Amino acid sequence: MREERRGTGRDPLGDMLDSFGRGPDGRSTSIPSGGGVPPWMAEMLNYCARCGTELAFGAIDGEDRDRLGCPSCGYIAYVNPRLVVTTIPVTDAGEIVLLRRGIEPGKGWWAQPGGFLEVDETVGEAAVRETLEETGLIVEPGEIVGLYSRLEAAVVVLAFEARVVGGEPRLNPEALEIRTFAPDDIPWPGIAFKTSYWAIRDWLHRRRPDIHPADRHWDE
Ligand SMILES: [Zn+2]
Repeated sequence: MREERRGTGRDPLGDMLDSFGRGPDGRSTSIPSGGGVPPWMAEMLNYCARCGTELAFGAIDGEDRDRLGCPSCGYIAYVNPRLVVTTIPVTDAGEIVLLRRGIEPGKGWWAQPGGFLEVDETVGEAAVRETLEETGLIVEPGEIVGLYSRLEAAVVVLAFEARVVGGEPRLNPEALEIRTFAPDDIPWPGIAFKTSYWAIRDWLHRRRPDIHPADRHWDE
């Protein structure tokens, strides 16, 4: 069942979407849409979560695309991206808080605090919780700076601007270093992820359009 799903070619809806470009998150992934489940994720989807039978990939009645289904009980294994909730904490002085990551991916590089949304919390709660866990700071989430799709990682990253309202910087296994950076002193070459780069850049574009971020290129 490990055959790889590929795009189904041109269709009127696809053509229309293409004409929009990739939307506000168009820069956020380097692989084409419509490529199906990323291989690293497909490797983990072998058996029916309901009855344990081996899943089969293919056409299923009522579904508009090929999917993983259970030949025994009819369960369909839908695969959707997960949401990563992050914040760009801003101090009263107008500086942003970044942490040098203590764990992979991106260990040793700078990023904003954030993590996966839990199933029993709101995005605002996740923003506050993750920021507190990773920095020791209490924030008040404000405007959404951006939403960034990464097809290859099967995630959507949400970035809030967030005002620092309390707490004290506190190192922890996830943060080797916690620092504030003035808008003209952001460590662009040391930023861990594309999505961090885009989020910080988009925040800067709103708050300090006079400052231009340094280019940052990734190999992938
Ligand atoms: Zn089943």
